[in-house]
Amino acid sequence: MEFNQKNHPFLSIIIPVFNEQGNIELLHKRVVNSVSSNTFEIIFINDGSSDCSLGLIKELASNDSRVKYISLSRNFGHQLAVYAGIEKSQGEFLVIMDADLQDPPELIPEMLLKLNSGFDIVYAKRKSRRGDSFFKKATAKLFYRILRSITAVDIPIDTGDYRMISRRVRNIIIQMPEKNKFLRGQMAWMGFKQSFIEFEREPRLHGKSGYSFKKMLNFALDGITGFSHFPIRLVTYIGLIMSLVSVSAIIYALVSKFVLHSTVKGWTSMMILMTLIGGTQLFCMGIIGEYISRIMSNVMNRPDYLIEETNIEIKNNNAQ
Ligand code: UDP
Ligand code: MG
Repeated sequence: MEFNQKNHPFLSIIIPVFNEQGNIELLHKRVVNSVSSNTFEIIFINDGSSDCSLGLIKELASNDSRVKYISLSRNFGHQLAVYAGIEKSQGEFLVIMDADLQDPPELIPEMLLKLNSGFDIVYAKRKSRRGDSFFKKATAKLFYRILRSITAVDIPIDTGDYRMISRRVRNIIIQMPEKNKFLRGQMAWMGFKQSFIEFEREPRLHGKSGYSFKKMLNFALDGITGFSHFPIRLVTYIGLIMSLVSVSAIIYALVSKFVLHSTVKGWTSMMILMTLIGGTQLFCMGIIGEYISRIMSNVMNRPDYLIEETNIEIKNNNAQ
């Protein structure tokens, strides 16, 4: 079914922005040109940018009433920025898209048709990811393979957050209480009817990636700990294996002392065992700590993000 002005569902296009001053204008132009009708809003979420991004967004908003913005009080990270946009959106259908034009807005009509043909989530799958470094591609590939093998949730490979979702999915997402958001995992967990379209991913237009190695690592840890109990079970397995190793070491030590009478000779094996056991214990405690820290953030129940300024009316922001 083709859409016309009348039956066109209202779209919310959600775009997190972290230092994207070189991309915003063209992005706005390409989005506006891609969506054939006027029934949409673009929600820019300024995630603590230190460049002119916010100024440019406000300028767009003053000339185009379809442009909304939320400026967060600091950098809360990509996932929370997207979440803020999802929460404050009014659309029947929502699009989540990066600001660096790596996610071509021209795919929106195709996603729209697909979603409307009876799906709740249509994600954009990367046929290739040009412009990403070898390191980024390799670590991303490894991460998604590991994640898939240790989780029960089928998180699609080679997809980012670029996708279109129904209002129903949006309503569930904002009811999911976890503080460490991993939206693509949360959506995969939901089930419903999901589909995808394929595209070639271009390099980012201007600026550099806002995903530092540290942010990538934290994101990966949120994905794994949020959707798998395997690491914490691994602690039990390692503990079991190390106990067996220790028992053999104790037997060896006793035999050395009372049968072979050669206690000094065992220095090397003692050192190896001590460091091995010490290292394993620290590793296991680290894994337990990861889960505990996540329990902690959920128990503290702080707000997910703070808004410094916005042109969205906060009063009816939770209208569903
Ligand atoms: N982003 C954000 N907060 C951050 C890091 C990134 O809102 O702390 C935004 C960024 O502006 C972009 C999207 O998230 O719109 C994806 O980030 P980026 O392109 O830097 O990641 P990459 O494509 O390199 O994985
Ligand atoms: Mg990018």
